[in-house]
Amino acid sequence: MKKFAVFGNPISQSLSPAIHHMFADLTGETIQYEKIEAPIEGFEDTVTNFFADERAVGCNVTVPFKERAFKLSEANCNEEAATAKAVNTLHKVNGCLNGYTTDGMGLVADLLSTTGSLSGKRILLIGAGGATRGVAGPLLRENPESLFIANRTFAKAQAIVSDIANPKFEAITADELVSVEAHIIINCTSASLTGDLPVVSESMFGKCELAYDMVYSSQPTRFMQYAAEKGAAATRDGFGMLVEQAAAAFTIWTGKTPETAGVIQKLRP
Ligand code: NDP
Repeated sequence: MKKFAVFGNPISQSLSPAIHHMFADLTGETIQYEKIEAPIEGFEDTVTNFFADERAVGCNVTVPFKERAFKLSEANCNEEAATAKAVNTLHKVNGCLNGYTTDGMGLVADLLSTTGSLSGKRILLIGAGGATRGVAGPLLRENPESLFIANRTFAKAQAIVSDIANPKFEAITADELVSVEAHIIINCTSASLTGDLPVVSESMFGKCELAYDMVYSSQPTRFMQYAAEKGAAATRDGFGMLVEQAAAAFTIWTGKTPETAGVIQKLRP
C-alpha cells in the first residue's frame, strides 16, 4: 500500500483525504492518505518521520507550512514553486524530495473545463499573494492575449511581474481596472473569507465572460455576487481548482490521471 498525507496546522477541515481516496478508487490504486497536524515548531521533523516509512510516496502541504516545504525541496522544485517560494506537493523519488506547486495546474484545468480555451483572452488577476505567484506562469503558458494583475498593495503586484518577466504580464492600478476590458477576472485574494471585496471597479465586468473566485463556499462568494450584479456573464468558485490541484498531485505521485468531474460534483460543499 502506498502512503500519503496532508500536513497543516490546523488540518481537521481538509478534504484532501476524501478527494485522494476517490481518485484511488477511480484509478485502481490502493492508498492510505491521512491528515497530519504538524506542530508549528516541528514541521520538518514530522515530514522526515513520515517519509522514513518506505511505503510513503508523497504528501500535500497546506497553511502555514508551504514556504517551509519549499525549503525542504528547493533544489528539486518546479518553476511555479520557485516563483512562489512555496510548495504544496512533495514527492519522494530515490530518497530525495521533489517539490511542486500544483495550484496553477489546478486553476488552468478548471478554467479550461469551463471556458474551453484561454488563448487570446485578456485575463485579470486580483491579488498578489502566494497563490497568485503560483498561477501566473501556468496562465501565461495558455497563450492569453495579456495577463494583468492588480492588488490592494500595488508593490506586491509589481514584484510578481518583475519576477516573472513576461511581456504579456503587466501590473495595473485600481484606476486602470476598467480600461483593460478583461474577459476572465480571477479573485486570487482571501477577501471572500471575511466577506470583503478585493480591489474592484463596478464597470470592469462589461466584457467579463467569467468571474472566478479562488475561495469556495456552499453559497456564491461576495465577489461572485458582485460580479454577477455588475454584468459578468458567468461566475465560478474555486472548488474545481481545489480538486484539480489535487489531481495534479495525484498524477505526479502515481502517473495516473483521475477523472475529476464526478469528484467535484460529489464532494462540493
Ligand atoms: P496570501 O495570504 O499569500 O495572499 C492574500 C492576498 O489577498 C493578498 O494579495 C492580500 O492583499 C489579499 N487580501 C487579503 N484580504 C484582503 C481584503 N480584505 N481586501 C483586499 N485584498 C485582500 O494568500 P494566498 O495567495 O495563499 O491565497 C489566497 C486565497 O486563495 C486564499 O483564500 C486561499 O484559500 C485561496 N486558495 C484557493 C485554492 C484552491 O484550490 N481553490 C488554492 C490556493 C489558494 P495584500 O497584498 O494587499 O495584503
